[in-house]
Amino acid sequence: MDDVYKLYDLNASPKVDISGYFNDYLKLLVPSDRFLQMRKDDSNITSLMGVQLEKDEMSMLTDYCSVNQLTVEGECEKVVNTRKMRNKKVFDPKEPEDVDLQTLQNLRKRWSQKTKHAVYKYKSEYFINETKKEETNKLCAIPGQDILVFVRVYHPFMNQVKNTPKKVFGTTLKLNNVIAMLGFQTLAQLRDKISCISDYSISRECSENLKNAVGPMAKDVYKSGFFFIEDTFYNDTRCSTNVDYSRGIIEWAQRKQNLGPFKTDTMENTRIDSLHLRFGYPWVYKHQGGCEHLIVFSDARLINCDDEVTISAYPRIVRIKPSCSKFCMICSTYNVKWITLDHDRIPHNPCYFCDDCFKSYNYVNCKKVGEFKAYAYPQNIEAVRGHIKI
Ligand SMILES: [Zn+2]
Ligand SMILES: [Zn+2]
Repeated sequence: MDDVYKLYDLNASPKVDISGYFNDYLKLLVPSDRFLQMRKDDSNITSLMGVQLEKDEMSMLTDYCSVNQLTVEGECEKVVNTRKMRNKKVFDPKEPEDVDLQTLQNLRKRWSQKTKHAVYKYKSEYFINETKKEETNKLCAIPGQDILVFVRVYHPFMNQVKNTPKKVFGTTLKLNNVIAMLGFQTLAQLRDKISCISDYSISRECSENLKNAVGPMAKDVYKSGFFFIEDTFYNDTRCSTNVDYSRGIIEWAQRKQNLGPFKTDTMENTRIDSLHLRFGYPWVYKHQGGCEHLIVFSDARLINCDDEVTISAYPRIVRIKPSCSKFCMICSTYNVKWITLDHDRIPHNPCYFCDDCFKSYNYVNCKKVGEFKAYAYPQNIEAVRGHIKI
């Protein structure tokens, strides 16, 4: 892992014992550090300041301390954070013209050489504001004590190895979503929150009878999987029929001179805060036999009152990167609903169809025309039903 991804060590943190780190941090906090447990409203702020202020005085103080007081004439416009898409406004280096600063000259030079479409960290990432669950007797995390950990989950990708034939294309690494976890939750709960299209496939050939397209999805049949973090494989052993994917890799590594030794553990018994890992370093989640995702632990902090504190709301998706829909290869208008293989009247193998094109091209009076195999295109039903609201 380190040999393949050692480039990422430049950005990764040293190894962190998550629970140990926050236990030490909590010892440094004195009881008066109540800010983590308080909502930031006027009465709490004045009580923290230890003064009594009238409403007028408070609003005058708020204006006086506002960041708007720090702006100067001619400054570029303040970024409006819509919380939906963080897209910074781009400073135009042509303005102002009557100032001859070296920084402006460099900026002009840089912009004339490079593309004008600057790429920002959160461009096209959507923040998910799930409505808070109204539950009676709900269990809540304790602000200032419980740990919140953020995990970036990437789409599966294919690395293009050197000297591969030109026909074999690699795919680029692309973020799927960012998941927030509580420290006492387990890796198995993280796994259940990771959504991948290969979990939703139904491997039933149904060209003779389309009703056969309904059936158990791959995630309900093939439940094996593991996380590989630092030197340990965390296997999913919740189901007795699960296969130990890690065994083959460990045996292969033992035959190599410079790999391992590796340990194994179970993901359902491993709490997130019990991990010792490097933040910012890519680890692996593998499922459905050969579907590999990179995951990155990107941040950890104590939860505070402004966060969602209901425990049942976690793990929760806090950001997603939208991806393009796959369109029908016949009409290029509607989303794909069906896949065909070995079609004797179509040059593409596989070929992707929308519902209308599939039925009108392949069936006359509900009777199959020609030879082909048909499968339902996998869909995340929960997302389709609007479970995830943007
Ligand atoms: Zn996958
Ligand atoms: Zn179509």
